[in-house]
Amino acid sequence: MIYFNRPALVGNELKYIQDAVAQGMLCGDGKYTKLCSAWMKERFQVNQVFLTTSCTHALEMAAFLSDIQPGDEVIMPSYTFVSTADAFVLRGAKIVFVDIRPDTMNIDENLIEDAITEKTRAIVPVHYAGVGCEMNKIMEIARRHNLKVVEDAAQGVDAYYHGKALGTIGDFGCYSFHETKNFTMGEGGALVFQKNEYQEKAEILREKGTDRSKFFRGQIDKYRWIDYGSSYLPSEMNAAYLYAQLEECDKINRKRHQVYDGYHERLEDLEKQGKIQRPVVPEGCVHNAHMYYIKVKDIAVRTRLIAYLRENGIAPAFHYVPLHSSPAGEKFGRFHGKDVYTTKESERLLRLPMFYDLSMDDVDYIAEKIREFEF
Ligand SMILES: *Cc1c(COP(=O)(O)O)cnc(C)c1O
Repeated sequence: MIYFNRPALVGNELKYIQDAVAQGMLCGDGKYTKLCSAWMKERFQVNQVFLTTSCTHALEMAAFLSDIQPGDEVIMPSYTFVSTADAFVLRGAKIVFVDIRPDTMNIDENLIEDAITEKTRAIVPVHYAGVGCEMNKIMEIARRHNLKVVEDAAQGVDAYYHGKALGTIGDFGCYSFHETKNFTMGEGGALVFQKNEYQEKAEILREKGTDRSKFFRGQIDKYRWIDYGSSYLPSEMNAAYLYAQLEECDKINRKRHQVYDGYHERLEDLEKQGKIQRPVVPEGCVHNAHMYYIKVKDIAVRTRLIAYLRENGIAPAFHYVPLHSSPAGEKFGRFHGKDVYTTKESERLLRLPMFYDLSMDDVDYIAEKIREFEF
């Protein structure tokens, strides 16, 4: 059986976990959390990095720091993971979904402005498959309407848009280190941002509403309950696993790109014959080979293809059921404008196995089986 995903184990993970245990401090913000944060600040050229227990939690922090209030509206694509919306719904926001672009499956930047009302407070672009949304346009709209931009860069770690790391362009960026993502710590994530003015609020929010971070830096002699807060720190054992992965970031990237390019070459003629469509990476975007997907004619063909691949020992996967047509989406949100592509494209999309240890022989085999399929 060729799995759809396997978490990578690239070298020093167990050694660093052992070292974290030997440090005698297992809670958050120790040696490995600091190493991970410093590494990301340098690599992604970002001023503030807060390791979190998940991308969902990073999004929750971003929604709080953006001061989202009950009744506020937040614009996002419907073609995304539930967490993108959950984080804002928890603050009482109404979700306004707009359609996606069929080429990248990202929010259509040309439809955003029409969805803005006097209640709109934020835009949440989701960088699907680690391919950047049209951030120049989105930032320009946000500036004009005085809106916050929260990037859901769960899939966009170490991917770039016109030279800038995804997640570092808007007011806040949210990364995921879940085991299905490029770099992992099992469950985990990070909140990143450029403006130092948010640092203190973010520290308090992440540390149960206390100023404990200041206390640890020796800036105050006792810590107190200051504001609303929760517990968003991952343990040092998780951070140790992640640090081993970040150190081997280029190695992981190279391998994933090899798999991506392998599929892309082997499936080129199927696209020429009009049987499938392959993913598109617009100019100015450097993607991170998070995902390889193809699009077939419709859901009927996709269902047949999934069954056929499974019979041949391959585990493919479809992806999101659009949020606006799910029970919570109907309750907490509305779709602005027409759903031209969200539902149609989501039903055509099929993700192929993609992970660090996938062998090129397996890529050959998977491509061969797809080529044999009667579309
Ligand atoms: C994976 C993912 C998330 C959630 O990440 P967790 O770390 O599991 O909370 C959110 N948004 C998108 C687009 C994702 O792909």
